[in-house]
Amino acid sequence: MFQFAIEKADTVLVITHVDPDGDAIGSLTATGQALEQMGKRVTLACEDNVPARFRNLPLADRVTKTPDTSTPYDLLVVVDCGDESRMGRPYFSLPEPKPTITNIDHHITNTQFGEFNLVDPQASSTAEVLYRLFTELEVTITRGIAESLLTGMITDTLGFRTSNVTANTLRTAADLVKAGAEIAPLTLTALVQKPYSTALIWQVGLKNMQSQDGLIWTTVPAADVRRAGLEGSPSSSGLVNFLSDIEGATMGCVLTEMPDGSVRVGMRCHEPYNVAEIALQFGGGGHTLAAGCTMDGPLEEAETRMVAACQEAIHRQTAALAGNVR
Ligand code: 5GP
Ligand code: MN
Repeated sequence: MFQFAIEKADTVLVITHVDPDGDAIGSLTATGQALEQMGKRVTLACEDNVPARFRNLPLADRVTKTPDTSTPYDLLVVVDCGDESRMGRPYFSLPEPKPTITNIDHHITNTQFGEFNLVDPQASSTAEVLYRLFTELEVTITRGIAESLLTGMITDTLGFRTSNVTANTLRTAADLVKAGAEIAPLTLTALVQKPYSTALIWQVGLKNMQSQDGLIWTTVPAADVRRAGLEGSPSSSGLVNFLSDIEGATMGCVLTEMPDGSVRVGMRCHEPYNVAEIALQFGGGGHTLAAGCTMDGPLEEAETRMVAACQEAIHRQTAALAGNVR
């Protein structure tokens, strides 16, 4: 169905989520390349800057915050967004009537907000979903498309280490390597190397780290975010993974105070626990083992509410698991 919608569209706007990660930018730029190959006029949009580590991907320099709205688009393709709000300003500033939405994603909390929804929560990444779609659309997997897709897969699977890595994930990655993408350099730039400003955030985050009842969490106040000289919005993902991987931790949580006073929250856990349900309580979403949300400030109040919600979830989920064992 949506293959037909894509095929018949001439001008296509592609949007990925605010505060983009590697799967967001990899999926955005891969979709742009595939649609151009199909002869379409393509605009790529994201509310926030493309992080420097993804700027060497093909078409990354074409990503705009303010898509041209002088003529309507035939189709809007949305990649890696769990709900409408994740599209941010590039979507909400489009004049009415807004174009038909094709929603391509892999978040379990996806709200199926498109007219067409291609959502596979079993997939490791939106990039993995797109690879299957491109094959169906008979798109040639060029080296550029392969590099974009492999970047998405590497970042969302932390280098093929997460529990959602399947035989299909690895087969897809093998096809992308065959098409000319290289795992080692993409892993180094997309996953391993970090800006110095990120290390400064970690310094604050580790200093403020606390541990109680299986939750290891920290807060990063706005003054420290400013001092670190971050470009764009901070990604807590490296630090929150580090916290949840500490021995004995059931969940990890990082609360970062943004310049506008709101608080970005990243959460992680390991099987059989679930952080997506906590993020949903606060209007966010994500995956069972990796989720996030934005809360109102001030930071201390958000921290109190979030720590209580995480500890309540740990107790409840632990009790449910014990019940299942009996
Ligand atoms: P991170 O902690 O890396 O920012 O996010 C972890 C996962 O949760 C990602 O897959 C991300 O897309 C999702 N996520 C993070 N914040 C939000 C949010 O505010 N709303 C929704 N729906 N998903 C989110
Ligand atoms: Mn993703």
